[in-house]
Amino acid sequence: MKKVIIFGATGSIGTTCLNAIKEKQLPIEVVGISANNNYKKLEKIAYDFKVKNLLLTKAKSFNSSFNFFNNSLDLIESTPCDVVLNGVSGFDGLKITIDSIMSGKDVALANKESVVAGGEFIFDLAAKNNCKIIPVDSEHSAIKALIDSHDRVNVKSLIITASGGPFRNLEKKDFNKITVEKALNHPTWKMGPKITIDSSTLANKALEVIEASYLFNFDSKDIEVTVHPQSIVHSMIRLFDGAVYAQMGNPNMSLPIIEGIYDCYCNKELVKPLDFTNLSLTFEKPNYDNFPLLGSAYEVLEKKGGYPIAFNAANEEAVYAFLEEKISYLKLQEIVLKTISSDFNYTVKDFNDVLSIDEKARRIAKSYI
Ligand code: NDP
Ligand code: MG
Repeated sequence: MKKVIIFGATGSIGTTCLNAIKEKQLPIEVVGISANNNYKKLEKIAYDFKVKNLLLTKAKSFNSSFNFFNNSLDLIESTPCDVVLNGVSGFDGLKITIDSIMSGKDVALANKESVVAGGEFIFDLAAKNNCKIIPVDSEHSAIKALIDSHDRVNVKSLIITASGGPFRNLEKKDFNKITVEKALNHPTWKMGPKITIDSSTLANKALEVIEASYLFNFDSKDIEVTVHPQSIVHSMIRLFDGAVYAQMGNPNMSLPIIEGIYDCYCNKELVKPLDFTNLSLTFEKPNYDNFPLLGSAYEVLEKKGGYPIAFNAANEEAVYAFLEEKISYLKLQEIVLKTISSDFNYTVKDFNDVLSIDEKARRIAKSYI
């Protein structure tokens, strides 16, 4: 029985994980759960899964049948577990990743912002504490499985697939008509609002290129992105000998989440088997003119220092402002590009450096809103 704490239990990743555990009767015991505001859903999960240890980040609750903790470190340190699933959205997830590692826990990491903002610092910390960071993002879970079975020394480059989002075929002249409602309508995945907007601007793919670079230690020039609207091929690797290997399956996050918690394959079927009789797979080049944030990934990876942190922070501020209908879709893209054109040439040594660069980027981004 694996014991897991689920941060972001009420969100899309958390819910998919809990449903898989219940429906497939997996030998996983949920020992701790967290949410930001949604107390009602958190309480329901606590009753359904018999979880005693809870954390609510924003709201307060006084139900005496549960143990409420003050912060993520308290919850982790007071709850014996094998692995932490970090399914929180946004930069706040970084603190949870750091707290888990500092407590000696492996992290099944959905929160890609942790990797982008934490960068080399969190991998060094994980190495020092003898902890694993296991990717849950479907592309990175696929790449991990492919590299593990082909040996890193044989792998020349990575090919990350992108659905292309809902505006793949929209002409740039019509981008001024994009509404929040349209941007929240992702063609293949059902996810939380932040990542759904990121998927529409391809900022999600930009974050994933940076994430892949840190996770698997590849230069940006060795990471390609290909648009694959069916989301069946979850990513690929190219070997030096020319062979390309792909990981495929129907789009369903249960598989990367559960493999992340187990840190190996699952012996129960988590995803509906692929039916090859009706399968048509297409691949195309990303449109860097319409989706300039994807190109930014390569720019910030080249520059490193504080640039990936600034990209993440500016994007987060711009996405939240767009979701609140304070700015247009085009302005969202513009704010991120303008923010990263400022100076973020810093050396990042610790979490305090990350925090101050993040704060500077948010201040600049907000000044454009
Ligand atoms: P959701 O918005 O659906 O869920 C976010 C969860 O985190 C909720 O439980 C929410 O609580 C909690 N939360 C939000 N803000 C904070 C905060 N500041 N501090 C603590 N907890 C917080 O997001 P997703 O599940 O879609 O995404 C989670 C992460 O996983 C993101 O980093 C995303 O990029 C990544 N990811 C998601 C995929 C998906 O399929 N959804 C696929 C690949 C990666 P509450 O309910 O109370 O608001
Ligand atoms: Mg992904």
